[in-house]
Amino acid sequence: MSLSDEELERYARHIVLPQVGGIGQRKLKAARIAVIGAGGIGSAVIPALAGAGVGGLTIIDSDVVELANLHRQPLFGEADQGKSKAERAADFVTLLNRFVDVDARQDRIGDENARQLLGGHHLVIDGSDNFATRLAVSDACVALAIPLVSAAAVQFQGQVGLFRAQPCYRCFVGDAFDADDCDNCAELGVLGALAATVGSFAALLAINMISGVGPDQAGQLHLFDAERLLWRAIRIPPDPSCRACGGAA
Ligand SMILES: [Zn+2]
Repeated sequence: MSLSDEELERYARHIVLPQVGGIGQRKLKAARIAVIGAGGIGSAVIPALAGAGVGGLTIIDSDVVELANLHRQPLFGEADQGKSKAERAADFVTLLNRFVDVDARQDRIGDENARQLLGGHHLVIDGSDNFATRLAVSDACVALAIPLVSAAAVQFQGQVGLFRAQPCYRCFVGDAFDADDCDNCAELGVLGALAATVGSFAALLAINMISGVGPDQAGQLHLFDAERLLWRAIRIPPDPSCRACGGAA
């Protein structure tokens, strides 16, 4: 996949980096990424990936913009209230970078449609706000052999991890939350700038992975404490009895 003169100029500050170069930039162009949730995390992930020149983006979100979203979702403005988040986010991408092929899906992703929506992508980034969605997405990614960046922010705590085959996200959280929306932002609150921090970290992880920068991050969970302003990383052990990936190793 080659880069036009205009793309070479647009991505010049990437291409000059020895760790990225033209090869890494072409890998980004060849990638198709599904972003689940155009919320607080998606508002950081989507502009970062579009600006970086990821060639294909699918944005999946069933919600419309509400006033209480705007403190953490700078993809949208006051005039967007009541409009589809997926479609407005896709409009943002098109305005930012016309070299990105963007597909907006105003769908709620769940067990019944996750494989159909996610098939054909090279990476999935999940910034949704509840365990039931995150587990359905994780199970589909395991079944389709697609790497998953799972990112979450609630109150003053953030977490980002890359999951590939085993361990999967279900190894980390177990089976208890399949039907439970217990951690959503509406009930517990979230600091807006924390969602942006976590989203930017998730985008960085994705861009590094696709362009081939740095060591493999699969199986590591990065935790951020927004009160103490500290990141730490833990390694997630595979669960041999995990019903999603348990037989995969
Ligand atoms: Zn698992």
